[in-house]
Amino acid sequence: MLKCKEVVEKADALVDGMPLSWRERLAMRLHLIMCHHCRRYIRQLNALVTSLPHEPQPLDDEQTKRILKKIDSPGN
Ligand SMILES: [Zn+2]
Repeated sequence: MLKCKEVVEKADALVDGMPLSWRERLAMRLHLIMCHHCRRYIRQLNALVTSLPHEPQPLDDEQTKRILKKIDSPGN
């Protein structure tokens, strides 16, 4: 099982456009199901990233879902 620190590192890599293997994405997803801290971190990370080139956007569950979809997406 991944540690929170590892999930954070992989989430950063994912947002930067680094490919993750299906094993890594699966491990992240399992961790996120159980870990409220990492779900919140990913939501904040996504809000930060999306706010950089554009207008700041309110946090909502759609953003969290988008990140989860990215984690789940096959291939790169
Ligand atoms: Zn965690």
